[in-house]
Amino acid sequence: MSSPPKSTDLIHHPYQPPAGFEAPQVGVFKASTVIFPNVAALRARDWRSKSGYTYGLHGTPTTFHLEERIATLEGGTDCLLVPSGLAAVAAVGMALLRTGDEVLVPSNVYGPNKALCEGEFAGWGITHQLYDPMNPADLASRISAKTKLVWLEAPGSVSMEFPDLPALARICRDKGVICAHDNTWSAGLAFSSFDAGADISMHALTKYPSGGGDVLMGAIVTRDHDLHIRIKLSHMRLGWGVGVNDAEAVLRSLPSLQVRYRAHDRAARELARWLGTRGEIAQVLHPAFDGSPGHENWKALCGERDLAAGLFSVVFDGRYSQKQVDAFCDSLKLFKIGHSWGGPMSLVATYDMPAIRKNWPHQGTLVRFSIGLEDVADLRADLEQALGQLAH
Ligand SMILES: *Cc1c(COP(=O)(O)O)cnc(C)c1O
Repeated sequence: MSSPPKSTDLIHHPYQPPAGFEAPQVGVFKASTVIFPNVAALRARDWRSKSGYTYGLHGTPTTFHLEERIATLEGGTDCLLVPSGLAAVAAVGMALLRTGDEVLVPSNVYGPNKALCEGEFAGWGITHQLYDPMNPADLASRISAKTKLVWLEAPGSVSMEFPDLPALARICRDKGVICAHDNTWSAGLAFSSFDAGADISMHALTKYPSGGGDVLMGAIVTRDHDLHIRIKLSHMRLGWGVGVNDAEAVLRSLPSLQVRYRAHDRAARELARWLGTRGEIAQVLHPAFDGSPGHENWKALCGERDLAAGLFSVVFDGRYSQKQVDAFCDSLKLFKIGHSWGGPMSLVATYDMPAIRKNWPHQGTLVRFSIGLEDVADLRADLEQALGQLAH
């Protein structure tokens, strides 16, 4: 009888696979521990640059690949990955803000960004103000010596107003304040944050880059290497990293990003246009549509590429109660009820706008649609049958 295999032989196995393996997808390298060839290499480790590997948290070949591809997508030079889009928002603020500083966020900002300002940042003695993104003079008037960060977002992800981003970014530049743009809607495709004048592009990869509705990840992209290092040092001290399986999922989805984005866009515009002809709908809010707030700003920034996310909101006629509109959403079959967007499945959500926005101008209930990749005719038929329910 042979003796049982030794654990040591299974751990320290001498086999080396042949070199030169190539495949369409980037390899998946997983590690917490990274092994150094000798003590001198361990001593000389440099986790500021990407010249080598130091610890799983600081990157593996797989996450380095994703960082470089997202930097390319965004037109930036450096990228940091974090476990969610919201973590990217938090990482920027935590790197750049200290007690006594102030951050300015647009009044239509992604809700959890505002909640972070009201929660942790307020507790740490960091103040915030909301500015009107549709009025650059309002932003200018709120910037003071305390202001260390301004968030930009285009469009508002529920109310869909599209601000004059270059004008807002210019104000920040003139006043010497760093501005970070939440670029999730554009996905780096409809326009570039850096062309619009932002210093930092933050992107919830959870949405279009993942495209599956099954990954949470965020990216922080910069063009200024010193600014990147400032955020990176904080990122490392805070211990943020991403799971390599999630990085692999995003790497697999990236090649189809442009094709998917355009398909979401075209389907969304077709359905939004059709909803605009329906008597139940008082207004369609889609930045590519004439008459939607800030349409001229969308046209100036995205008109040439003629791209928009597959996202729009409608305001129902005031004669329908909130309860009736809720019933409309509940009676949809293909559209699922849920937050987020960018995945294959169409989603619908209602928002209590008067509660979340001061001076909200509309009477009726707002419903936001995220258009997935189903057949447009099927989605339209679903909307039609649900609108039919509304009459009862
Ligand atoms: C979804 C989203 C985020 C946050 O992304 P998560 O990965 O869900 O945390 C931030 N900004 C915008 C505009 C988003 O739509």
